[in-house]
Amino acid sequence: MDRKAVISPPVITASEVPAGAFMLAGGLAARGIQAPIHDLSLGFFRWLFLEHAPQQGYANCTPSLEYLMSPGTDLYDPHKHRSVCGVLQSVLKVYKKKFPGWQLSLMDSVPPGVAHSTAGLVSMAQSGSTPFSEYFRKWIRETSGTFDHALISLAYLSQLPAAVEIAWLLEESGIRVTVGGSLATALHDTGTGLELLRSCFREIALDDGRSLTGETEPFLSKVVWPEFANHWKYLSSRPIIPFPLTTGCTWNRCLFCPDRDKPFSDVATANLKNLLAGGPDNPVLHLIDSEIPPRTIAGMLPLLKGKTSGFYGFARPQAEWLKNDLLAKMSDSGCLMLQTGAESGSSVILKKFMKGFSPDTAEKVIAAISDTGMRNYVYLLFGLPGENNEDRILTLEMVKRLQGKIDFMNLSVFNLPEKCELTDRAEEFGIIPGEYDSEASVLRFYRPFQSIDGSDPRREAREFIKNVFKQDQAVVPVLQSTPRWFRAGHMALMKRTTSL
Ligand code: SF4
Repeated sequence: MDRKAVISPPVITASEVPAGAFMLAGGLAARGIQAPIHDLSLGFFRWLFLEHAPQQGYANCTPSLEYLMSPGTDLYDPHKHRSVCGVLQSVLKVYKKKFPGWQLSLMDSVPPGVAHSTAGLVSMAQSGSTPFSEYFRKWIRETSGTFDHALISLAYLSQLPAAVEIAWLLEESGIRVTVGGSLATALHDTGTGLELLRSCFREIALDDGRSLTGETEPFLSKVVWPEFANHWKYLSSRPIIPFPLTTGCTWNRCLFCPDRDKPFSDVATANLKNLLAGGPDNPVLHLIDSEIPPRTIAGMLPLLKGKTSGFYGFARPQAEWLKNDLLAKMSDSGCLMLQTGAESGSSVILKKFMKGFSPDTAEKVIAAISDTGMRNYVYLLFGLPGENNEDRILTLEMVKRLQGKIDFMNLSVFNLPEKCELTDRAEEFGIIPGEYDSEASVLRFYRPFQSIDGSDPRREAREFIKNVFKQDQAVVPVLQSTPRWFRAGHMALMKRTTSL
């Protein structure tokens, strides 16, 4: 049998093991196939900050990295966190000057030219002169002969340029490369883009990993703690394990959801027990469910309380959270933060797009989360078709009523997914989906659209966010405390803004 390795290319945030690579390697290990995880995003940042930066005389990154790994206090201080991330970003800024046209940050990489264009990615990779080339050559020398089959796990577009390069380098060395992961399956599901991805990679797997073993059962039905090629510490004060309690979504009705067709299932509790038994002591569990079902988490609390030092994840702010003292029990069991998709303060908007909760309920859930001592990370979405200024003001008023109860905030402007029920029924919702230049070989998940009544809710939303929402005294301190970098990994480990 060939020796496998699971590769996660840069750039993704280096605060926890990449979820897709982790579950693939864990599922293979549970089936007796060892495929060590090579996290090349963490490896790249370590090389850049700890080897290349000192050699080149860039700013000293060591104190910043040390703070992120050991802040000295139980929780990160938002201001100190911002300043150490600023040092790392400044080094990236200097480094990327060597690669004209490249954008590079702690969570993203975009090559020169048209964003997310596959044309030219292969030749750019073959040029050997990208921001990753020097590190990759070193890594290939160090790992040469340790595996024959590389499984590249691709979750984000930010990984694509480096994934193309590392695939090409590995194949040049005679190693078989198979590319899979949520980016490939998402492109497959949208019905567009997979052919473009095929122009970058010879072998693409679109299943959850089972084709590698010949088994037909869902891959997540068996998972154990996987092997890691390196025992590097992630840039986090506590070990964070990403894992879902469920796949799919119990609600499955939001009209602009691109994942509505995914079947719902509970992931076997035994898997989480196995993972926690094999992993580091007192980890923080990052629940990566599309939305944590209240009934599922209620049954998991004893395990989470006993075997983790905390957990956090996404919650649809529905009324079930307010029943049976569930939030208080979660807080008592170590829940550090809930990310709530409140989205809008307008009941018309929430109802129109089938969110399944009212602004009033969302407000009560957010307030109750805060009252238990857990952190709130509130997600707001502006610019939906038909949204008017009155709707936006209702959202701002909801935030004002919640002043002191929201710790962190994410503001988004709506994008129309390539494939979702709203796109299929566009006219009914007063919009006409458009097309980007169909000749361009560009990976896209969204489509432009126009409103039939001539309004432009996305532009209006951007202006409102800039000129009104972000200026409001209920919003300013929340945005100041919301970290710009390491959001998914570090917010649950920060001092609460409301308790500062
Ligand atoms: S709650 Fe999230 S995952 Fe579920 S249907 Fe709505 S948008 Fe999709």
